[in-house]
Amino acid sequence: MTEQDMDLFTTPFDDDKLHEECGVFGIYGHDEAAALAALGLHALQHRGQEAAGIVSHDGRHFHSHKAMGKVGDSFSSEEVINSLKGSAAVGHNRYATTGGTVIRNVQPIFADLANGGLAVAHNGNLTNAATLRKQLVLEGSIFQSTMDTEVIIHLVANSKKIKVVDRIVDAMHKITGAYSLVALTSKKMVGMRDPHGVRPLVLGKLDNAYILASETCALDIIGAEFIRDVAPGEVIVIDENGMSSSHPFTPPAPRFCIFEHIYFARPDSVLENRSVYEVRKDIGRQLAIENPVDVDAVIPVPDSGTPAAIGYAEQSGVPFELGIIRNHYVGRTFIEPTDQIRHLGVKLKHNANRAMIEGKRVVLVDDSIVRGTTSTKIVQMVREAGATEVHMRIASPPTTHSCFYGVDTPSRQKLLAAQYDLHAMCKFIGADSLSFISLDGLYKAMGETSRNAELPQYCDACFTGDYPIDLVDNDSGAEKELTLLAERS
Ligand code: SF4
Repeated sequence: MTEQDMDLFTTPFDDDKLHEECGVFGIYGHDEAAALAALGLHALQHRGQEAAGIVSHDGRHFHSHKAMGKVGDSFSSEEVINSLKGSAAVGHNRYATTGGTVIRNVQPIFADLANGGLAVAHNGNLTNAATLRKQLVLEGSIFQSTMDTEVIIHLVANSKKIKVVDRIVDAMHKITGAYSLVALTSKKMVGMRDPHGVRPLVLGKLDNAYILASETCALDIIGAEFIRDVAPGEVIVIDENGMSSSHPFTPPAPRFCIFEHIYFARPDSVLENRSVYEVRKDIGRQLAIENPVDVDAVIPVPDSGTPAAIGYAEQSGVPFELGIIRNHYVGRTFIEPTDQIRHLGVKLKHNANRAMIEGKRVVLVDDSIVRGTTSTKIVQMVREAGATEVHMRIASPPTTHSCFYGVDTPSRQKLLAAQYDLHAMCKFIGADSLSFISLDGLYKAMGETSRNAELPQYCDACFTGDYPIDLVDNDSGAEKELTLLAERS
């Protein structure tokens, strides 16, 4: 491996995982809407830590607070929560990749339109946003931010429909992409998922208040009851008359992101009626069936590899040991972009538990390999702690393609599995053996017989390159232009 090759596989902020981009929360009909929204966003913090925002409505006026950093840092004061008056609120956690990390790019985005105010927050990625933005600018629209969410606002403003919900639906008909969206008007809260339902959105209830959230863990934290997942292509409208549902996007073609189950979602959440934790254990079991190895201990790469490692240990009958300890006080994007700190990265976050490793043959279980930089350092760390053999088992198939649906992924040439075959990957990370769960094995663990090649049950494009939604901006080059614009702004 040359130094140039290493550069290809490293990045200043890299902790070598894919990152979910954003979480959303909305509540309608509760006197403490803003406080509950802040708690909900806190539970969804794993979906984005760079900024957070809440917009509320008190029956007459909208109120907004946005801040860089984590929810607990910016929404814990009484003063802030009291300023967000009203019984309805929508909120957002941001993980920024494009659009720049500046306050004007923090959601929910709010605009005063001809028929009243509108606040919008979404999780995901609109794959034709840059193309639409170019058209809108040519037609005279003036953009305040580089967020794709602002495109939605302009499309709603330009819609010829009369009612606000019809205008939002009309706007979303022009958009392709993977999104879960919450919007607040002066009279209604609206939630919707794209027709493929790639990103999650759940519906809950607390007393008489309805709640929309990216994951069920945001319902648990406020003691709300989980009602159901919002269906792919479904539009939920909540107002003083209660909740109504429609399906204006036909036909829905469900392709939920399989990586939500593998890594993104919190293990205490329930997605598509399945406990994320149990799914991850089942993936670990299947991994052990497909890729057994004669070792003394099964060690998770914490925290994301833990449920799969428990399943692997149960299936294989090998003792499960916490051989790597994670420092929970290091944020995901803590590491500063200097060479020196970059090399310290993994030790800031993980340390070998020598007592559980020394003199043992171990198998490490992790959820995925992206660039391979973290795996390389972890294997080396475990060897230095005295392991006699270090095997690596991965609870997802090789990540060979980038995600364009709201997950921060490196470009293909930086993905280890896109560059190397299994043997070369194993050599790169320095393990004695390396295996991944098969694609069909992953589907089996999800409760399917196998992957339906004609119409896959999930989005699995980062493993297969089978993208269910057109990559309009990427194919036209519009996305690159917008990225350049964001970098300049
Ligand atoms: Fe999820 Fe991968 Fe599809 Fe992106 S490409 S939505 S990470 S399965």
